Amino acid sequence: MPPARILFWAATISGIGLTARSVLAEPPPLPVAAAIAVVYVAILLSGVFVLRLRMFADAVVRGPDDATGVALTFDDGPDPVHTREVLDVLDKHGAKATFFVIGRKAEQHRDVVEEIVRRGHDVGVHGFAHDRLFSMRGSKRVRDDLERAIRVLENITGKTPLLFRPPIGHTNPTIARVADLLDLTTVGWSVRARDGLASTKPEDVVARISRGLEDGAIVLLHDAPEHGDRKPAGVTALPAILDKIASKNLRVTALSTWIDREV
Ligand SMILES: [Zn+2]
Repeated sequence: MPPARILFWAATISGIGLTARSVLAEPPPLPVAAAIAVVYVAILLSGVFVLRLRMFADAVVRGPDDATGVALTFDDGPDPVHTREVLDVLDKHGAKATFFVIGRKAEQHRDVVEEIVRRGHDVGVHGFAHDRLFSMRGSKRVRDDLERAIRVLENITGKTPLLFRPPIGHTNPTIARVADLLDLTTVGWSVRARDGLASTKPEDVVARISRGLEDGAIVLLHDAPEHGDRKPAGVTALPAILDKIASKNLRVTALSTWIDREV
């Protein structure tokens, strides 16, 4: 069990014990109770915001111990221009990647999703609406959104998607449970460069990603901005990132080869 999940359960059980003691015996002084509550909320929020901790979901955040190569993943597409540019660069390097597409955009650009698959890459779910408040939604809304995204991809590719990256990387027990119900494997990352932000420069993306390049790394990049048609810095940086991978004697591996199921 991931250490963060052990911490979550230990904190939850302690909290229940403390509540029972307060009811049956004497409650702790108010400042102590408030401090305990603040620490507990901080633990919960770190689990929601930091997918790598795997507090709530058994997310894949890097390859297995014996993994070789680096897996490239792209979020927030498809985009009719930038996704195709990414596909061209990947083809030039003979590299395969995984695209976590937004269902709403996939519906608008079916041909781009078809092209991703035709050119030998994998497609995963990144929510239908890419709801920034996804981790605050109830289970029905989370399930409706993910089911809608799955249906869109099934209609385009003829295959049920199995990989899921939560919108903006936040998760919680509800999202983890719905993903399980829908038979989705949650995928995080080991290195990213916030290349979806307008303020990020391509050279910063190359520098940040380079620091995390090692066997088993899962690289998070963007082939589209969250909104609009601005070119993400990661698209501009991609040729240099692929050169860095080669210069470190690493290769690009399809993420699906690290996941114990047929994608
Ligand atoms: Zn996203």
